Amino acid sequence: MSNLICDKLKQLKPYDPGIDDCSIHLDANESCMELSDAMKKKIGEKILGIHYNRYPDPLAAEICDLFGKRYNIPPRFITAGNGSDELITLMLGAFVQSGEKVLITEPDFSMYRIYCSTAECEPVILGKNGELTFDPDEMIEKANAEKVRLIIFSNPCNPTGQGICREDALKIVEKSNCLVVVDEAYMDFWNQSVLEAAPAAENLIVLKTCSKIGFAAGRLGFAVSNSTLTDYLRAAKSPYNLNSLTQAAASVFLGEKDYLTGAIDGIKRSRDRLYKSLKQLEEQYGQKMRVYETHTNFVLVRFTDSKAVCNTLKSFSISVRFISGCLRITAGTEQENKELISALSKILQA
Ligand SMILES: *Cc1c(COP(=O)(O)O)cnc(C)c1O
Repeated sequence: MSNLICDKLKQLKPYDPGIDDCSIHLDANESCMELSDAMKKKIGEKILGIHYNRYPDPLAAEICDLFGKRYNIPPRFITAGNGSDELITLMLGAFVQSGEKVLITEPDFSMYRIYCSTAECEPVILGKNGELTFDPDEMIEKANAEKVRLIIFSNPCNPTGQGICREDALKIVEKSNCLVVVDEAYMDFWNQSVLEAAPAAENLIVLKTCSKIGFAAGRLGFAVSNSTLTDYLRAAKSPYNLNSLTQAAASVFLGEKDYLTGAIDGIKRSRDRLYKSLKQLEEQYGQKMRVYETHTNFVLVRFTDSKAVCNTLKSFSISVRFISGCLRITAGTEQENKELISALSKILQA
């Protein structure tokens, strides 16, 4: 049968998670910190109480409550998802009709494009400048001129590590005649969040994820928006999207406030050390590399031949992400960062 696969699917370029057998993984922006044994034990105990013959709580009330307490948002403005990835698919499917336009920036999180394609929306691209940022006024102008239905961008951005300040993000929300989705997957590592503005804003949805702060295995993300938008999101989602194991584990994870604060501080310290070491290399090898400033848990570096550096790092059993002609390097443990820097100095010396 030749007509089994439709054109939109044939044209899809699949996401490449870049799985390989390196021993050091600095390629997926995961947290470099494992949960403590005490927390794992608590999670194990909680999971013993699950009734496996029953469906999970469709609204994940306990989890939304804990997330809300942590970020100061009442739970009626929160939708929980199976990773924020699920919520992005959901939003494009629910809020945008086939053929309507969605504004995305480039480079940005590559899944936006893939989900646009399966939702049959037309991407309108705002390119970034040489500093890997964009002008908020230009975004507003383009969104309104092209009559897009929705804007989505990550802030701070994966893969650039750059971001726009809170005032600029709020200006985009206020001046654009469409829904604005601000993906704050990395905002735990910066301080320009617009999360608290979401419940009262007419057209803002803020996305959060637990994947970058130590809970990637659990697949848990959140959308925060006013109650009308939240009701529509909840109505459009699959009813039991968040399984009972994740809900049980997350009730422990999100409940440990001090642990989370400590973990985020630890990731930021690792990021700062990694950035500093890379800047020192840059002082020495300035013609061969450029290190970008970062507000996330990774550092973006442009090498004269980034692809070659990426491949050579693999022979040191270190995996980083080659993207947009640069290497995106996740902050690792102290030891991992050291090994990365030592491998890079050898590569740059050669
Ligand atoms: C990692 C990431 C996500 C996906 O998060 P999940 O909750 O793991 O699905 C979404 N947006 C951006 C920008 C990310 O980097």
